[in-house]
Amino acid sequence: MEKKKIIIANWKANPSSLDLAKKIVLEQKKFWPKLKNTKVVICPPMAFLPVLSTNKSANVSWGAQDVSLNLEGSFTGENTVNMLKSAGAQYVILGHSERRKIGETAELVAQKVALAMKAGLTPILCVGETIRDDQGDFWHNLKEQISISLSKIKRIQVPKIIVAYEPVWAIGKKESGAIDERDLHEATIFVRKCLSDLFGRETADKVSILYGGSVSSKNAQGFLRTGDVAGLLIGRGSLETADFNKILMM
Ligand code: PEP
Repeated sequence: MEKKKIIIANWKANPSSLDLAKKIVLEQKKFWPKLKNTKVVICPPMAFLPVLSTNKSANVSWGAQDVSLNLEGSFTGENTVNMLKSAGAQYVILGHSERRKIGETAELVAQKVALAMKAGLTPILCVGETIRDDQGDFWHNLKEQISISLSKIKRIQVPKIIVAYEPVWAIGKKESGAIDERDLHEATIFVRKCLSDLFGRETADKVSILYGGSVSSKNAQGFLRTGDVAGLLIGRGSLETADFNKILMM
């Protein structure tokens, strides 16, 4: 049986109200019964998740964009793993570059990955270099990011994780700012090799590797055809319903 492609929608801090969020879901939902070879995970802001996640469909799941390191108690503003689950999340984006930028280290991401796994949430681990230098040092940095972020889980847990390769320089650009397919091919081979070095080939082969960074319906097909890419993580484009639906139907 053909493996379904995985499309993660990262709404970031959008839209500005619950009413608008409901409208977007109402529009997107019309296409859900048509999803055959696609699995969609929608990650709206936490404030909207409990309401939106009541919309259900066989190929649609819900996720959060981060999780607290704490389990419960006096931690103002935090959302714990149990809160995410009771709000309808089955997935959680971890280590997104926009969170790393505000101080989230790979060590913290590692703790969150372990916590999410233990709670039965599927981590969508984002990794990616900030810039590409001519000497190729970015490969070393990418490898380090992967090995630290996955340092607190057991080999048996690894196949459940989704790794989203998101070069930071390619996020939030026009289509022309996205990675090119050859570079993406090389990067996914590298990510797979890092996983294989850490956990062995058999385990590494079971991990889904996605690409994220300025994806639209114009470049999505090319990325999805690229060797080892199991799906896409889409930011701004996931709120452009007409264009997003085209990607879902690919
Ligand atoms: C992202 O935020 O992970 C992302 C890929 O954003 P965009 O699609 O807007 O580049």
